[in-house]
Amino acid sequence: MINIALISHDGKKPEMVSFVARNKDFFKKCNIFATGTTGKHIQDEGVKATRLLSGPVGGDAQIAAMIAEGKIDIVIFFRDPMGKHPHEPDVQMLMRLCDVHNVPLATNPKAGKCLLLGVQCSQENDIS
Ligand code: PGA
Repeated sequence: MINIALISHDGKKPEMVSFVARNKDFFKKCNIFATGTTGKHIQDEGVKATRLLSGPVGGDAQIAAMIAEGKIDIVIFFRDPMGKHPHEPDVQMLMRLCDVHNVPLATNPKAGKCLLLGVQCSQENDIS
């Protein structure tokens, strides 16, 4: 099963909820790890998710650590480019570790869709 991290800043939570709702069948076949509040919204959609701490109190850092440990296959992180975030250093760390460990990262819904299509396609066609 694919391990996916889902994170969304407050201004992007409605987009994350609608993204998860649109792709429920896909997400139900994944192990989802989410930051606290994002995870609550995902669970409210009827999709199972392991909730970590909320982002500002260490949730992004927990997911970053999982990326470093090879426990996450893809990251979907809807960032709010208009907002200021007290945990910006953690956000930067998470994104940097995606690049260090070659973990695909989507930061908006269209990129997220491309990632899901890519995962589906590579599973069907044995692409690596
Ligand atoms: P949250 O954290 O899902 O707990 O809101 C996300 C974030 O702000 O990084």
